[in-house]
Amino acid sequence: MLLEIGPLRLYPDRISLNQGALSVTASVQTHKFEAEVAQVLHLVTHSLYSHKEIFLRELISNASDACDKLRFEALGKPGLLGGEGELRIDVSIDKEARTLTIRDNGIGMTRDEVIANIGTIASSGTRKYLEALSAEKKADANLIGQFGVGFYSAFVVADKVTLTTRKAGEEGSTGVRWESAGTGEYTLESLDVPARGTQVTLHLKADEDEFLQPWQLRSLVARYSDHIGFPIRMPVADSDKGGDGKTTEEWEVVNQASALWTRPKSELTDEEYQNFYKHISHDFNDALAWTHNRVEGNQNFTSLLYVPAKSPFDFFGGGRDDRKGLKLYVKRVFIMDAAEQLLPAYLRFVRGVVDSDDLPLNVSREILQQNRNLEKLKAACAKRVLDLLDKLASGEPEKFATFWKEFGGVFKEGVAEDFANKERIAKLLRFASTQGEGAAQTVSLDDYIGRMKADQDEIYYLTADGYAAAKGSPQLEALKAHGIEVLLLVDRIDEWLSNYLTEYAGKKLRNVAKGDLDLSKFGGTNEEQRKQAEKAAEGVVSRLKELLGERVRDVRVSARLTDSPSVLVLDEHDMSPAMQRLLKQAGHDVPESKPVLEINPANVLVKRLEGESDNSRANDLALLLFEQAQILEGAPLDDPAAYVRRVNQLLVNAG
Ligand code: ADP
Repeated sequence: MLLEIGPLRLYPDRISLNQGALSVTASVQTHKFEAEVAQVLHLVTHSLYSHKEIFLRELISNASDACDKLRFEALGKPGLLGGEGELRIDVSIDKEARTLTIRDNGIGMTRDEVIANIGTIASSGTRKYLEALSAEKKADANLIGQFGVGFYSAFVVADKVTLTTRKAGEEGSTGVRWESAGTGEYTLESLDVPARGTQVTLHLKADEDEFLQPWQLRSLVARYSDHIGFPIRMPVADSDKGGDGKTTEEWEVVNQASALWTRPKSELTDEEYQNFYKHISHDFNDALAWTHNRVEGNQNFTSLLYVPAKSPFDFFGGGRDDRKGLKLYVKRVFIMDAAEQLLPAYLRFVRGVVDSDDLPLNVSREILQQNRNLEKLKAACAKRVLDLLDKLASGEPEKFATFWKEFGGVFKEGVAEDFANKERIAKLLRFASTQGEGAAQTVSLDDYIGRMKADQDEIYYLTADGYAAAKGSPQLEALKAHGIEVLLLVDRIDEWLSNYLTEYAGKKLRNVAKGDLDLSKFGGTNEEQRKQAEKAAEGVVSRLKELLGERVRDVRVSARLTDSPSVLVLDEHDMSPAMQRLLKQAGHDVPESKPVLEINPANVLVKRLEGESDNSRANDLALLLFEQAQILEGAPLDDPAAYVRRVNQLLVNAG
């Protein structure tokens, strides 16, 4: 026997044809798992112990996917199905050998595929996930669940796993056996496998006898895998016929074996929906909500769409979940993972199944893109999801809050992406507000409108780099003093969103940090008072203009401030400073728009500047007023050291 250590892709048994001497029994090779696989295995076996039975669900789920894939391939090559009867999954036990075997007659794997699928972890998301796990030093089931455990969960209950497989359509001699104790390495062996498909045998650990009990396995299949669309069979126990419980040669189907979404809603329990969700989403957690519909008419299709309760670990980083989203079926035949074609991007968190009666069975990704029915299907799916979210928002606010926390940031993209549904999407948006306490306490635009002042015809908002920065911003002082609510747009995407969401329910959205803020109709300074204030502050304003020079476009008396000395404002159509910074970081040329410095003549610092006879001290004060306003608005200072020197100087003088 020849041993090869390392993640090799050399096949000595094939090479041996050229090297004569090695050809005799050179068929078992030992490979080391990639470091990440070993890590995942370790995490899975140590953190899933309290949910160990889920290995069965995972392996049956893989077997079902393999049957789906073969059924799809066979559409073009009917010969692939051969004379092996219906696609199915068999679960059997051998009490003496202490093994449990799950066998499918699905697509199977080639040797390369076994190495690629079972011995390596391709996704960069997984790597990031592992880094995060070790950073948090905790590997609880929820975190593992976000990643999806799959095949490796077998090692929670088994101390050795043997996988034997042969790809459909290939010669029997291309079969391969993979075996591992789930520690650092696995062996691969080429062998003759007469029937296509995959067989996974678990050599159970000493204390896992429960999985050798047929009744226990049946109840697990019924609980977790009843919805699988292929028959799952188990040998008939002869205790059913009065014997001592030994299994017989006869098989019986132990699940419903009909695709879950084809069954009437009234027959389905929440648990069945949840188990099906876990099967299609590879999520360990329950779904938050779902919507199941059959549409008949011009187009006939069934959709079962789920909103997850947690965003998958690498949802924002791409990777593993790119391929998981919506599964497209045509007349019950799985065709492809086709989330991009079936849902707009802002709903990419949705998981589920769409089963169309109208699309051709031989549909390919390219054909799909040109299919006119598809746009309608996509619009219908989006509508269903929005209906579901509406229902949560009005009937189950806690669930809606969970949705918003996990996916609100992505959902906001819809305002720009889905013009037809813009108003519906806007209705579902939530923002922090000066009325609420904390970033998590959010309000809708309708809530806001309901609380608007009698004369108020605009929806006021402020964008900022974070909740604390927004909540404490001097831009809000006068508005607060007059009891006017302001929405606090504090997510990164909000700045961008505000360019698209300029109006809602006939009311304009108005950034309070831009342009003239006239609060006279709410009891704020009127034109007359304003003129007087400007006149009174003429001296300090012109002094500031002179001292600040090119830094500002103008200096004027503020209607926004009640306490703070100064604040920067932009013209209504200027790009916000945060947006300017974002674009600059991304390497774009951004036209420089200088801010206007607004001052509060009643503030003690402004007064001090007014009375300052020493020119260099006046200069320091002027710069401080400007720099403080920059800091408040989140802008980096040109010369932070000089700023600190100036502040310290002021403190020393004051002392
Ligand atoms: P996942 O199913 O989440 O992709 P797994 O670790 O369970 O992750 O499986 C990895 C891959 O191995 C699968 O994507 C599939 O390509 C392959 N695989 C697993 N089980 C089978 C099977 N019974 N038949 C064919 N391929 C399988």
